[in-house]
Amino acid sequence: MKAVFLDRDGVINELIYYPEHGIMDSPFTAEQFRLRPGVGQVINKFHEMGYKVIVVSNQPGIAKGYITEEDFKKINLKMKRELTKEGTTTEGEYYCFHHPQAKIKKYRVNCDCRKPKPGMLLQAAEDLDVDLSQSWMVGDGLTDVQAGKKAGCRTILMGRMKCELCPLMDENDARPDAVCSDILEATKVIGTNSQHGGK
Ligand SMILES: [Mg+2]
Ligand SMILES: [Zn+2]
Repeated sequence: MKAVFLDRDGVINELIYYPEHGIMDSPFTAEQFRLRPGVGQVINKFHEMGYKVIVVSNQPGIAKGYITEEDFKKINLKMKRELTKEGTTTEGEYYCFHHPQAKIKKYRVNCDCRKPKPGMLLQAAEDLDVDLSQSWMVGDGLTDVQAGKKAGCRTILMGRMKCELCPLMDENDARPDAVCSDILEATKVIGTNSQHGGK
């Protein structure tokens, strides 16, 4: 079996702007959680192409004290509900709740799952019998690309390619196979690059 691994924040759902910190970050409430346009359609497209779709996401919000476990569950339920409304579902979800500087002690771990490490992809491959060499990682961060490459997958960076990213990519072995400005484009890249691959 082959898979498309999808990052969550910025790929499946919109990032939220927090003016008080001047940053874009994960939604902290279910109300803030909104699917990005076309995501359901894109997941179904991957299914048609013979890929399992697996969410792999760092979620350090609980560890950092930004959200509670209850909030996370509500957000997760909303994600599933919204995907169901769009007529789709994923085959797996893997989350890393750890952070090396976590406020909450049980999450203060230097784990093997936090991207850029490939632990979540490796675990999913074992659990769901995924051939990583036939699989893709799609994410909006360089850590997604790094994790995908370390797992032996091909990678797509969502966003706009900027020249100032190049040295950073080279330093961190984070050059993606493709850069796509929207996720529908990612289905085309994967479609044209997987004809010779097995299932
Ligand atoms: Mg992201
Ligand atoms: Zn972890």
